[in-house]
Amino acid sequence: MIEPRVYGLDDHHYRAVGENGVAELVPTVCPLGHPLGADTVLISSSPCLCAGRPHRTWRCWACDGTANVSVWVWPPCSRHPEWTPWAV
Ligand SMILES: [Zn+2]
Ligand SMILES: [Zn+2]
Repeated sequence: MIEPRVYGLDDHHYRAVGENGVAELVPTVCPLGHPLGADTVLISSSPCLCAGRPHRTWRCWACDGTANVSVWVWPPCSRHPEWTPWAV
């Protein structure tokens, strides 16, 4: 079984799957509490150098287009302080 931390991945955001797999965990609610699921969240990657790797982002569809900035990000991004770091 792969240990995510061997690859610099923390146990709060990744878990081992089977003998050779690693899966990302995902938030189930947006920073403002809307449920996130198959048709309610835009999962993306934001290229940036602040964390030494791209950021994973989860943007809530219910909040999108409103005045609310409701985006989870991991790792935290210094260029987008309005995005909420997803700490589980
Ligand atoms: Zn939301
Ligand atoms: Zn960044």
